[in-house]
Amino acid sequence: MSKVLVIGCGGVASVAIHKCCQVSDVFTELCIASRTKSKCDALAEKLAPTTKTKITTAQVDADDVNQLIALIKSYQPDLVMNIALPYQDLTIMDACLACGVNYMDTANYEPENTDDPAWRAIYEKRCKEAGFSAYFDYSWQWAYKKKFEDAGLTALLGCGFDPGVTQAYCAYAAKHEFDTIDTIDILDCNGGDHGYAFATNFNPEINLREVSAPGSYMENGRWVEIPAMSIKREYDFDQVGKKDMYLLHHEEIESLGKNFPDVKRIRFFMTFGQSYLDHMRCLEDVGMLSTTPINYNGQEIVPIQFLKALLPDPASLGPRTKGKTNIGCIFTGTKDGQPKTYYIYNVCDHQACYREVGSQAISYTTGVPAMCGALMMLTGQWTKPGVYTVEEFNPDPFLDALDKYGLPRSENRAPALVD
Ligand code: NDP
Repeated sequence: MSKVLVIGCGGVASVAIHKCCQVSDVFTELCIASRTKSKCDALAEKLAPTTKTKITTAQVDADDVNQLIALIKSYQPDLVMNIALPYQDLTIMDACLACGVNYMDTANYEPENTDDPAWRAIYEKRCKEAGFSAYFDYSWQWAYKKKFEDAGLTALLGCGFDPGVTQAYCAYAAKHEFDTIDTIDILDCNGGDHGYAFATNFNPEINLREVSAPGSYMENGRWVEIPAMSIKREYDFDQVGKKDMYLLHHEEIESLGKNFPDVKRIRFFMTFGQSYLDHMRCLEDVGMLSTTPINYNGQEIVPIQFLKALLPDPASLGPRTKGKTNIGCIFTGTKDGQPKTYYIYNVCDHQACYREVGSQAISYTTGVPAMCGALMMLTGQWTKPGVYTVEEFNPDPFLDALDKYGLPRSENRAPALVD
């Protein structure tokens, strides 16, 4: 029996809300609050006849802590699920602390305005000290650890698929499959085709920033940074086939490096088609990925935001997308003194997701873990005061919930390795 406030009503939130409504005995009451209330109302209206969960809606600007506090005080939720954008992570954490409510999200903080001099100074210091230059990192949210501990509240960070399930796979491998883990390769393959020459599968601004940043991986506890898209491999994915994949910086490498300090190398690869890469390079070359505002005919325009307005809404890709995703982790290490390899992954079918919840698999593979993470928190299985990432909790009930609610695991004990 619990009351949950979901902030955001985009592609991922919509799936998470659908799934919460399938578990009405835990998610008894849900408030969907976002910037555009009409989207919340439309989803509430669609779901109401199908669920026992009591759904209400609200308008909120999650950049404004006072608005958030007023909403949380009036609704009195047990948990706030932040499924808006990473830009709002800190304001929502502040509001949760002010109101004494547990918090979770699906992506770590990054600022909307990367030209802000105050943020830039901290960022440049971090680039030098830590050795990677992505705009996002965990330091901002880890800085809340003591505040959440003192308040007796839990904050769960990055509970989507990657980050999220990939870290639960690591915790599972460490708990059940290995005595020592030497290497972790996280492989994110989207074998789906939406028929557009260029579109992003989730929020274009967040997606393009991530993909156009330099790649990096962790080796012997240190970051190694490489030019964007400069390490390419081919891999033959179960139920998808051969795909080109590229080494990217990804946020879970940072937390895994901290929580599994003995692992010698942690890398992340994502598949991209040639058309996507060609378009992205061209857009970058002409300045369309810039977050710096320009003045056009007397109006201020942020190029990447303008691009977002031109591109297909990720939520609209659902009916067009065919094919499967395959996301998982390959481990090498030892068990009982013997060398061992292990691959744990999930395969998800875009069209099956669309039939079930009206979204493609990228939103589905993020929204289902968000619901399952909330389920862990609300049922008391993942609660401890402080700020944590997924690998810091018991992976077993979470993976069982994923098996049950639409993202079952597959395993391979003799996988092809990535060189
Ligand atoms: P969308 O752009 O589809 O949705 C974002 C939602 O947040 C929209 O409903 C938007 O409202 C709302 N929003 C934005 N700004 C505000 C604000 N200031 N106040 C209130 N609401 C706001 O994004 P996605 O659903 O694709 O992504 C959601 C999150 O999931 C992101 O943080 C993304 O990084 C993360 N993600 C995580 C993955 C993982 O595996 N861990 C994978 C994919 C995404 P409006 O309708 O008005 O625009």
